[in-house]
Amino acid sequence: MIKSRQRDAMQAEIIAVGTELTSGAKLDTNSQWLSTELAARGIHVEYHTAVADTLESIVSVIRHAIRRVQFVIITGGLGPTLDDITRQALAEILHVSLIEDPEYLEIIRKMFERRGREMPERNRIQAKFPAGTEPLPNPIGTAPGILCEIPRLSASNQCVVAALPGVPAEMKKMFLEQLLPRFPFGKTFIRRARVNCFGVGESDAEEKLGDLTARGCNPEIGITVHEATITLRINATGTSHEECESLIGKAKQEIRDCLGTLVFGEEDEELEHVVLRYLAFRNETLATVERGTGGLLSHRLTEVDEHREWYLGGVVIPGGTTSWNLLQYDPDWLGERDPVSKEIALEMARRCREMTGADHVLSVTECPQELAGSEQSPIAYVALVGKLGEVAVPHRLLGDQSFQKSRAAKAALNLLRLEILKKQEN
Ligand code: AMP
Ligand code: MG
Repeated sequence: MIKSRQRDAMQAEIIAVGTELTSGAKLDTNSQWLSTELAARGIHVEYHTAVADTLESIVSVIRHAIRRVQFVIITGGLGPTLDDITRQALAEILHVSLIEDPEYLEIIRKMFERRGREMPERNRIQAKFPAGTEPLPNPIGTAPGILCEIPRLSASNQCVVAALPGVPAEMKKMFLEQLLPRFPFGKTFIRRARVNCFGVGESDAEEKLGDLTARGCNPEIGITVHEATITLRINATGTSHEECESLIGKAKQEIRDCLGTLVFGEEDEELEHVVLRYLAFRNETLATVERGTGGLLSHRLTEVDEHREWYLGGVVIPGGTTSWNLLQYDPDWLGERDPVSKEIALEMARRCREMTGADHVLSVTECPQELAGSEQSPIAYVALVGKLGEVAVPHRLLGDQSFQKSRAAKAALNLLRLEILKKQEN
């Protein structure tokens, strides 16, 4: 059974300093990396803050952070230029001045010497630290980090603040080599796992899962959706890896009990990986024919590394045309028939099977655009023809148009997956 989460894990905040981040010119990848590293050591990151290179703003976000967490990591703003002012912000918060450290000045000078250059005067600032703080050596760059403890409510209740350079390679090395060894991390472990589902909406999935997705539980299960694939993200906290793995194992079983065959895989597994694995096991081949998806179904199957040989290939017909030449039908073969129908979906698949001799053929009809003023979303058909018989099902084209093709391609793969599972049950 799911336990209530122990809220005693150390909480952290990551502050990313740099106008290039808040302006959108650059993506803050440091916070993402640090969060994953901290989580693996049982430190829960509660906040990510990005702030421009403005002294007042940096001081303000650091003050906020030290009030609400026990551990703050700042990245960026330690360079030699005028806009790099993290060290000044820390000095202001600590009510101390910046003091030049002769040892560090020498280290920086030597670093320039090794590169055959004289140290520019403006790099001198990198040897200055707020009084009473500890420099963190930077073995691959000129910007040392800064480590300090800042009192919160009482002197016995300190917040640890570490400032690291913004350059990702320097930040990572210093985090692993300088910061980690200083802290007794590892009392609490966090493990994550993902379970992937297809064929259900986000809110229906949540309803089926009942209490499993309640907040504040251990393990905690969150739902995200990407192009109709629902991912259940399990986060387990425990005092050992084994405890976390056991919690994750139980949660996975409970998810499968609630969602049954809607669950198709775990971690990075997509529908095409599962379908090709099933086909390899059954020694059976697959071909595809698609009209509304611009080759996306074929693309998915050709991107898989393992068992790709079970996919023979596919026919891609441009949507919105009367060109059926690739299926060797004459141009007016369609005649009066509706190009978006079960009949055509099956006929396309039958024809492709004749041409390729595949054990199974999946087809997708045209994906019609939503008509203005229409209350119902349009429908495409996906069909399967082959060793498992003939079946065609409607696929409602919901939501953002840019994802509809990818969803229709997934619906076709899911049809084959479910038909194989049905066969196995019988
Ligand atoms: P700084 O330490 O602020 O001088 O930053 C040095 C370099 O690291 C610049 O190229 C920044 O764009 C880059 N950088 C700073 N912060 C981040 C961040 N949070 N994520 C990725 N790159 C960063
Ligand atoms: Mg900067």
